[in-house]
Amino acid sequence: MASAAYDIAVIGAGPAGMAAALYARIKRLETVVISKDVGGQMLYGPAIGNYLGFEAIPSAELIMRMRTQMEAHGPTVVEGNAATKVERKGRGFIVSAGHDTYQVKAVIIATGKVPRRLGVPGERELVGKGVTYCTTCDGPLFKGKQVAVVGSGMSAIYAALHLLRIASHVFLLSDYALMGEPHLIGDLGKAANVTVIESAQVTSINGDGKVESVTIHYGDDTQEIKVDGVFVETGWKPVSDLIRGLKLNKDQEIVIDKSHMTSVPGVFAAGDVTMVAEKQILIAASEGARSAMQAFRWLLDNRRL
Ligand SMILES: Cc1cc2nc3c(=O)[nH]c(=O)nc-3n(C[C@H](O)[C@H](O)[C@H](O)COP(=O)(O)OP(=O)(O)OC[C@H]3O[C@@H](n4cnc5c(N)ncnc54)[C@H](O)[C@@H]3O)c2cc1C
Repeated sequence: MASAAYDIAVIGAGPAGMAAALYARIKRLETVVISKDVGGQMLYGPAIGNYLGFEAIPSAELIMRMRTQMEAHGPTVVEGNAATKVERKGRGFIVSAGHDTYQVKAVIIATGKVPRRLGVPGERELVGKGVTYCTTCDGPLFKGKQVAVVGSGMSAIYAALHLLRIASHVFLLSDYALMGEPHLIGDLGKAANVTVIESAQVTSINGDGKVESVTIHYGDDTQEIKVDGVFVETGWKPVSDLIRGLKLNKDQEIVIDKSHMTSVPGVFAAGDVTMVAEKQILIAASEGARSAMQAFRWLLDNRRL
């Protein structure tokens, strides 16, 4: 168990967190970045076509460029560790991550969003063994195989339209009527290798070491469908539960004011985890930068430096 003191902790190293850390270091704040991974949601797609300065760039390269620039300014980067708790202590905060704790004067939460899980038996055990949350990343692995897409919104519809070009057969399992562009739903209806089952509740994902089938419940019927892959496309949720007392909106996003301060003084937030509309890399990065500059001002104004 280790303990260390810094001016500021940035939690999360997606574009918001990396930009926040870069700007915190530009302001000469002693900075620790604690993140499960470096890249965040950018890890889920192959390429980015709308980041200013690059007409199109592989995601891995954009992540590497952001990371190199951030690290050149010298923050401490704790990668592969999840922050579990942020607590007030005296005039600052204690951030816990695994067995380690970090004593800091301010915090920037840049934890973004994670895919919603189905929460059914077999899902957790078979992640990476046929259960996936990223069609763009993992779709090509299922060439010629039978797959299920679970979800009822546009991301599920796009996933099925993508996979029907790769897989031998796609089962689109929707717990409600599909919600999306009628012409795209129509395209699914016309595809010979797609079966849409509405009002289907997935009750388990089955397999010994790899996905072999899904069990669904619809009407009074229970059915087991043989598949090699399950693409969970049920949306994303913000990671906004690290600190008690944070004001959230109805979508569980962190409410911030115009200086990126949350309802807890000294705790700032940036990127997809906040209520700011439009979730994009460019927007998250600029918000991360702004949150660090505002945190610096707050630390000065409140005589914490
Ligand atoms: C498949 C896909 C394709 C996309 N394509 C584009 C695109 O082409 N162009 C575009 O502009 N946007 C795109 N987006 C959206 C864009 O990726 C996000 O808006 C952006 O990444 C948000 O950045 P963020 O830093 O706020 O959060 P995230 O990228 O979600 O990063 C959050 C970070 O916090 C870490 N974290 C979470 N919880 C903890 C914890 N408890 N402790 C420590 N670390 C934690 C995560 O591991 C991650 O590193 C895409 C998103 C997806 C899913």
